[in-house]
Amino acid sequence: MRALQLSANRKLELTNIAAPGKPAPGEVTVKIKAVALNHIDVWGWRGMAFAKRKMPLIIGAEAAGEVTALGEGVSSVLPGQLVAVYGAKTCGLCAACRAGQDNLCTYVGGVYGFHLDGFACEAVNIPARLLVPAPPGVDAIGAAVAPITFGTVEHMLFDNAKLQPGETILVHAGGSGIGSAAIQLAKKTGCTVITTIGSDDKKPKAAALGADHIINYRKDRFEGVVRKLTKKAGVDVVFEHVGVDTWAGSMLCLKRGGRLVTCGSTSGISTQMNLMQLFQQQLKIFGSFGCRMENMANAMQKIAQGLVHPVIDTVAPFNAIGEALQRMEERNVFGKIILEIA
Ligand SMILES: [Zn+2]
Repeated sequence: MRALQLSANRKLELTNIAAPGKPAPGEVTVKIKAVALNHIDVWGWRGMAFAKRKMPLIIGAEAAGEVTALGEGVSSVLPGQLVAVYGAKTCGLCAACRAGQDNLCTYVGGVYGFHLDGFACEAVNIPARLLVPAPPGVDAIGAAVAPITFGTVEHMLFDNAKLQPGETILVHAGGSGIGSAAIQLAKKTGCTVITTIGSDDKKPKAAALGADHIINYRKDRFEGVVRKLTKKAGVDVVFEHVGVDTWAGSMLCLKRGGRLVTCGSTSGISTQMNLMQLFQQQLKIFGSFGCRMENMANAMQKIAQGLVHPVIDTVAPFNAIGEALQRMEERNVFGKIILEIA
């Protein structure tokens, strides 16, 4: 079968490797239909010093596909069913996994496509417990953006920040995959949504997703605009994933007792923080990574009901991956880039 393998930093190759054999007990063979790219793919492609991994590595952390074969004892999915695939190899046995909080697994084996072989290939064998069936009305692309894009945002907004109707939220980088999901989910919750974008041509697209106020962060200091929009009160919640470039401004945007939730740091990982501001303003900071299986199911339900939709920048074939990662690195995208595994 064909697979997209990383053989060295910034070196991706379309290779031919052996297809997976019969699924082991408890496992399922999934024919991959679509892979959604995320910033973790950019990190992996550039090379990350602390990531333990063996090259060559099949990339692709977020995917959906069709069940084609069942291993012994599997009854949770059926052949022919469209499924979204959880992005990490969790143990299924520890207290966190048994409580449905796979992203807190004590014995996690790694993130697929980053530490372990991922999903940018024609088929994989994977434990059945890591699959979430797509409801009717959700296609392969809708299912492919459930595990990391929509799942992560569901977990950030509702499990961690506990976003409430009527609140005001600042969503950074509204043109990114998770930013475009966060705008929609916050708007459907009944919130006022302020978002940042990096170029004026993204403005109508962000407005169409439901953003009430859109700030071009390259033209205006977003923290100044947010304070003005909220009459100096600040926002209830900041949705962070940019990191170094926006951290100090994000903290300034929060109202007293406000919540900041972050799942990424695309502009770098170390920053300074004003601790006096943290405790005097009684700010709450939530680190968020991945999601619970239930977040994936909830996201797909909302997609099926037409409440939210995946925002697609490009659907590209396998061999366009290099260019796609480059564009993500340059932030020259609006929404998701999907690789189709035809
Ligand atoms: Zn576990």
